[in-house]
This record gives sequence, structure tokens and C-alpha cells, in this order.
Amino acid sequence: MVHSNQMYPSKALLGRRNVILAALGLAFLLIIVAPAHTQAQTASPNFRKHAVTFAKPLTVYFVDVEGGQSTLFVTPSHQSLLVDTGWPDNDDRDADRILQVAKQAGLDHIDYLLLTHFHVDHVGGVPNLVKKIHVDTFIDHGTNRETTDAVTEQCFERYRAVLAQLHAKHILAKPGETIPLTGLTTTIVSTDGNTIDTPLPGAGELNPYCKNCPTRPPDKTENGRSAGIVMQYGKMRLVDLGDLTWDKEMHLMCPVNKLGRMDVYVVSHHGWYPSSSPAFVDGIAPRVAIMDNGEKKGGSPGPWQVIEKSPRLKDLWQLHYSAEGGAQHNVAAPYIANLQGASGKDGSDGHYIRLLAYPNGKLVVYNSRTQQSKTYPAPQ
Ligand SMILES: [Zn+2]
Repeated sequence: MVHSNQMYPSKALLGRRNVILAALGLAFLLIIVAPAHTQAQTASPNFRKHAVTFAKPLTVYFVDVEGGQSTLFVTPSHQSLLVDTGWPDNDDRDADRILQVAKQAGLDHIDYLLLTHFHVDHVGGVPNLVKKIHVDTFIDHGTNRETTDAVTEQCFERYRAVLAQLHAKHILAKPGETIPLTGLTTTIVSTDGNTIDTPLPGAGELNPYCKNCPTRPPDKTENGRSAGIVMQYGKMRLVDLGDLTWDKEMHLMCPVNKLGRMDVYVVSHHGWYPSSSPAFVDGIAPRVAIMDNGEKKGGSPGPWQVIEKSPRLKDLWQLHYSAEGGAQHNVAAPYIANLQGASGKDGSDGHYIRLLAYPNGKLVVYNSRTQQSKTYPAPQ
């Protein structure tokens, strides 16, 4: 016996009489709604103030690609920017996980795909992804500079083949240029080993955290060539530098802090030790940090401690429990999307973290494993 159908009338019941009644009902609704709509269009300044308070959020999905990166930004005007695509193979594991959140966000295509650099855990998933969803425009730093690494070179060649095959639109990322998303400003602050020369608007103060920060030799790999972005939506500021390394962080942050303070830090390099220098992390002083580590990749104790001790931090969230972090250097379970032992395609449910970021700086972080959210009110 099926009870639920009793809620809905069957087609047979919708005779001519019902159609007339429905039409009358619709007409009545239009009469009621129309004046309210007119009122909204001629809104007073008060109404506009009210509308800003309830502005739509920027939505960011941190997809679990097991220690690679894939971060999906959906703007308030429903444009999309995907940063990286995770790994290749694994029966399209990463592509399927990206697709799952894209569908949840109501997307039927990706407007912009930014490949931060050409390592396998970032660009490797491109051929898998484009089989499943249309990507309109690709953005990258140009060409692979780590030609001595066979896997990286192969990934780059496969990516180039996809671009050629799709006759895809392509943007070469240049420092200081913006990605054309409406309603917010997305600035490229690092790319192909170069960083912005002039500070972002509102930034440019001397960075007191440079003094005690050790320097490190220049990174020669693709990591240091990562295309990084700063996104500003109203007062809310977020930074995602891909796998940018310590030496390049210090170019951005010393002696002058060219980025300014951030509300959200998409933790560089999966929380691995070659990134997250104190000069950078303390200088940007994030309120919330979200780390795209795997159980066995990233989440090193060094960066973990730097982030946890940074001056304004409310919480660090992790996509995975970190084996390297062990008992001392992991956040509490409610802040971890995938717990210990949930690594690899067979053992992992691929839980994601979702961030809602409002233009007044209010943040809401949701853990898909616990299905719980935490709200961070706008700073006073
Ligand atoms: Zn990586």
C-alpha cells in the first residue's frame, strides 16, 4: 500500500473544472504579487540597506581529491570558477566528486577552470572531468617548466591535447589581472614564478612577521609557479595560492604585505611543509583556514602549528585526518571531513567542506560528514 501518492492528485482528477479553478487562482496570485514587485523596484535607501544584509553568499566547495586540489567557487550571480581538478584515473573518482558538488550547486557547466600548475594532483584530472561536464574557459600559467619530471610532462601534454581537441577558450594568467567574474574581484597575484609588484588595494603595510621568518632557497619545481588568486567580495577576502612555495610567499609578503589581511585562507600546498611560512600566514592573519590535505599527503606539523597560532584564527578545518600530524597536530573531529582510515577510493566517502562567504565577512562552514555548520559572524 502506497500512502505518499495520496498527497498529490492524479492526472485523471484534473478535469476542465480544476483547470479553470487553477487559472483563477493564478490570476489572483498575480494581482497580489504585482504591487509588491513594483514596491521593491522603487525601493527606499532603507530597503537597499536591508537587501545588502541579506546578500547572497559566495559558495565554495572544497572537494576531497585525496591530497590534491579541487575547489569550486560559485558566485552570487551563479558563475563558476573551478580551481584544479585533482588526480587522473581511479575510475573518474575525482571527476565524479567534482560533478557531485557542481550538481548540488545547480551548475550544468563550469565557466572558468583555473589550473594553478601542472602537477598531477592538480591538472591530472582534466581529461576525466571534461568527459562529464563542459568547461567554457581554461586559465593557466602557460607552459610546464618541470620538463625533467616525466609524470608532470605527461600530464601537461594530456592537458594540451584536451585544449586542442575542444578548441577551448584559454586565458594566460598574468600577475595583477583579474578573472572576469561579476560581483566580486578575483585578482591573480602569482603566476609562472612571478608575483604582483604593487600591493592590492588597501594592502601595502610593512609586515612585522618578516623579521623572524627564516628564508628558504628558491623552489625550482612547478609548485613555485602556481597561479594564485585573491578574491574580494564586499569586505570578505579569500586567498588561494595553489601550491605556492615559501620563497614566493615571502616575495608577496616581505618587507611589505602586498596581499593584506584575509578572512579565509585556502591552505597552500595541502598543508605540506614547503609552504605556509609565518611571514605569509601571520601577515594575512586569516579568521578561518581550510586545508585540502589527504590522510597521507600534506597536513605537516610545521604549517599546522603556524596556522593554529596565527593571530586572528578562529578555526582550522581539514579535509582529512593527517597521519603525519598524528595525535598532536590534528584538529578536533567535528572540523575534519574525512576521519582516520578514510583514505583511498575504496575506504573514503569523499566528504567535502562547504563555505558560504557573505560580503560583510560573515562565514558559514559546513562539514558534509557531520552535516553540521558553524557560523562566524562578520567582524565588528
Ligand atoms: Zn599539490
